[in-house]
Amino acid sequence: VDNALVRAVHRIMTHADGKRRLAVRTNADTGADAARARRFGAEGIGLCRTEHMFLGDRRELVERLILARAADEREAALEALLPLQREDFIEIFREMDGLPVTVRLIDPPLHEFLPPLEQLAVNVAVAQERGEDVAKEEALLAAVRRMHEENPMLGLRGVRLGLVIPGLFAMQVRAIAEAAVAVAEAGGTACPEIMVPLVGAVQELETVRAEAEKIIAEVVGTSGVEVLIGTMIEVPRAALTAGQIAEAAQFFSFGTNDLTQMGWGFSRDDVEGAFFWRYLELGIFGISPFESIDRDGVGRLIRIAAEEGRAARPGLKLGVCGEHGGDPDSVHFFHEVGLDYVSCSPFRVPVARLEAGRAVVETGGSDSR
Ligand code: PEP
Ligand code: MG
Repeated sequence: VDNALVRAVHRIMTHADGKRRLAVRTNADTGADAARARRFGAEGIGLCRTEHMFLGDRRELVERLILARAADEREAALEALLPLQREDFIEIFREMDGLPVTVRLIDPPLHEFLPPLEQLAVNVAVAQERGEDVAKEEALLAAVRRMHEENPMLGLRGVRLGLVIPGLFAMQVRAIAEAAVAVAEAGGTACPEIMVPLVGAVQELETVRAEAEKIIAEVVGTSGVEVLIGTMIEVPRAALTAGQIAEAAQFFSFGTNDLTQMGWGFSRDDVEGAFFWRYLELGIFGISPFESIDRDGVGRLIRIAAEEGRAARPGLKLGVCGEHGGDPDSVHFFHEVGLDYVSCSPFRVPVARLEAGRAVVETGGSDSR
């Protein structure tokens, strides 16, 4: 690449960084992603989606954990997962070296972890046909049937999963705290922020927080490590009761993907191919609300939550970690609302830095803080 061009880009980025008030973090789930994002200028991790750490080899453990009927089976799976999770977090904290890292407790739609029902039913039928003993397969099939959901995105996800499966969130909280202490003991710095997903009522957050605080106090001891506990705001009810939720949260991060899905009642997974073309044709929106923030509806939920959250807890830290965090027009909106940071995928970090700087220039330096 032309050197003059590189210098020009560098000058523009430096200029934007000098102007902007929004910090720019990244969404990253691995040390490698975190390293890449730092090269693009990310100032922390705004969303580490831990469910991605439960795939591959660990899937079977998670399946056992979810389907376990006896406490000892569940505890064995959790015990096996704890050291693996601790290593995951050590790698990320080391890479981020003192920058804030928001770790979101596991939030998978359950169907992503359970074996497909149809496949299990076929396996049982085939084995029966062959005259084999199918007791074990039948038990698994019955268990998966019990957990089956017609609408997993509105089902046993996020905080609900943590409230239903004993020990799951506790294992993750312990792994995060132990990883932070291990990094500190090795001379580094870790700044973990534990984030609870899909909260709609302050009581959900209070329940998780009470257990988490006990574990953190026990693990952290006198090491000096500080662990924050906050929540995603991604369910409309959470936005509308933000004043209550702020009493139990040290930070908010807006999950604009789910907030858009639930605000409009549009399935994230289905609608774009199904009927959005007609909405664009009719001018109901000029661009998909999953790409660029819908200021009038979803944006208003964000404004309400930001205002009521800060009224209840002055200085409450506010961020956004949905896809919109890297969309230029949405970044301007988040600046106007007075958020503290946006978080986006590593490759969008430079764009977010630039737009955060431009937002200051365009609004004459003002925002609603
Ligand atoms: C969101 O809903 O905006 C979010 C960041 O969480 P996820 O996309 O993982 O549901
Ligand atoms: Mg979400």
